[in-house]
Amino acid sequence: MLILVTNDDGVRSPGIRSLAEALHDLGRVVVVAPDRNRSAVGHALTLERPLRAEELKPDVFAVDGTPTDCVNLGIHGLLRETPDLVVSGINRGSNLGDDITYSGTVCAAMEASLMGLPAFAVSLDSHHFKAEDLLQAANFSRRLAGKILQAGLPADTFLNVNIPAGECRGVQLTRQGKRQYGEAVICKQDPRGRTYYWIGGGDVGFENLPGSDCNALHEGLISVTPLHTNLTNDASLDSLAAWPFSSLMDH
Ligand code: MN
Repeated sequence: MLILVTNDDGVRSPGIRSLAEALHDLGRVVVVAPDRNRSAVGHALTLERPLRAEELKPDVFAVDGTPTDCVNLGIHGLLRETPDLVVSGINRGSNLGDDITYSGTVCAAMEASLMGLPAFAVSLDSHHFKAEDLLQAANFSRRLAGKILQAGLPADTFLNVNIPAGECRGVQLTRQGKRQYGEAVICKQDPRGRTYYWIGGGDVGFENLPGSDCNALHEGLISVTPLHTNLTNDASLDSLAAWPFSSLMDH
């Protein structure tokens, strides 16, 4: 088996090292990951400049691009065969609800899924990696990877996995929940008296939605959410069908 591993925290993150080590039991593991932290770059693809890949050691590549670049470059440039599985993580911090749209970790798995490959993203609900938490997340990832390699995933499906820090009370299959981003922009003065802004510095909460990824993590459960990339809001098609769109055209 051939497994491609990437992340958005960078190739030197403890999370990706734990993940790659755990997956070695299942086959050949090739790490292709950003050369620095590229968290929250979403599904960005680098089109305006060349990309470089440095082989840090056998089967470990640092790329000066995004997680989505890494999946592309890994599959179409660095590997000579198609991987059987793509795993992205272990991310520093959870990726729940609306986080998914910002997350380089999740979008790397999305990219692999767009290529028709089975993939999952895995995030640990802590910004302070403790060895035992990383081990717990890596062990779950290895068993999940083994299951996917054996059984496959349903068509057009990739998984978003979030793992609590500390004791896990179980595993729940969930839906994407809803984040509540608090005070989204911090505004302060720099030492030279100029104003600067920092996005994402506020408290992050979530709506209480039973069965959601946010609720599961809050309850100490591992959350596994099946995702696909089609964002069509089917429920709104009916109400928008009554809109006179054709009257908005030039006549
Ligand atoms: Mn990250």
